Amino acid sequence: MLIVMRNDATDKQIEAVSKVVKEMGFTPYAIPGGQRTAIGVLGNEKQVDSAPLERLSGVVNIIHVSQPYKLVGREMRQEDSVVEVGPVKIGAGRLVVIAGPCSVESREQMMSTAKFVVKQGASILRGGAFKPRTSPYSFQGLGKEGLDLLAEAREVSGMPFVTEVMDESSLEQTVEVADMLQIGARNMQNFALLKQVGQTDKPVLLKRGMSATVKDLLMAAEYIMSEGNEKIVLCERGIRTFSDASRSTLDICAIPSIKEKSHLPLLVDPSHATGEWNKVAPAACAAVAAGADAIMVEVHPHPEKAKSDGPQSLTFEHFEQFMQQVKAIAAAAGKELFELG
Ligand code: PEP
Ligand code: MN
Repeated sequence: MLIVMRNDATDKQIEAVSKVVKEMGFTPYAIPGGQRTAIGVLGNEKQVDSAPLERLSGVVNIIHVSQPYKLVGREMRQEDSVVEVGPVKIGAGRLVVIAGPCSVESREQMMSTAKFVVKQGASILRGGAFKPRTSPYSFQGLGKEGLDLLAEAREVSGMPFVTEVMDESSLEQTVEVADMLQIGARNMQNFALLKQVGQTDKPVLLKRGMSATVKDLLMAAEYIMSEGNEKIVLCERGIRTFSDASRSTLDICAIPSIKEKSHLPLLVDPSHATGEWNKVAPAACAAVAAGADAIMVEVHPHPEKAKSDGPQSLTFEHFEQFMQQVKAIAAAAGKELFELG
């Protein structure tokens, strides 16, 4: 339930309403808006009887929220949310491009990639220091050394960085240094980890699980937000289907569907969705046309030597062409590229 306050409601009236909500056994959650404050009611499984609240002064309207995801749903907050990652705003109308290698491998690889992608218009750097690999014998990431290289690349390029956390230990090592924490597809329903990142104040990039529905993704985001962290960017990265056209199937329809259901910004990752470098640009263009707020791509100076995801990584030359194509589609959709000033 959402209690909408009058636009001239006083703090005292808001407090009085919150007190009644608590007395009813629920948790009030104030949502300040541009015009007026609304108070979300959390903790109910079934529809709440709104009678005790209707007559309180300052209350203008009561809306019953029909979806199980409350805080991340549009019913609670109609305006689009904007998530700030350092100087970069995701969801504020301009297209944000995140680029970098799948895994952090070496200083030379990170510095050369960061310098190149920022020049082409990327505004956030990516790179995995802790890697969730299907095989235990595959490269598992450089760990702490990888985080140091990401921090050095941030100094060199001016781009904030996003990197994946897999468990409590990697979160502890990462939270102080990273600008944004990534929850990978394989961890989308690791509820303990979702709660832990929800207790930090870092922006979170939440990837859709390979077999997760849109509702599952939104419920995972709800876990993070109900712990107090509102800085969430959702990510469509392809799901498993019977199509053998690509590594995963990019769920294009999920883009307008998620934008309709949630106020959170949405990023699309065409690299993991397609699994092949020559399908990355077409998939990214489709995602931008369908309304994605941001795109994340894997770029490597020598994809043939990459320790992970080489086949889907763009070379520098391909990334340059990719940016031209994506910018043209964004322009046609009335969106400019977000560039660091
Ligand atoms: C990644 O972004 O490096 C990654 C492992 O992606 P996903 O969790 O989507 O597979
Ligand atoms: Mn990867």
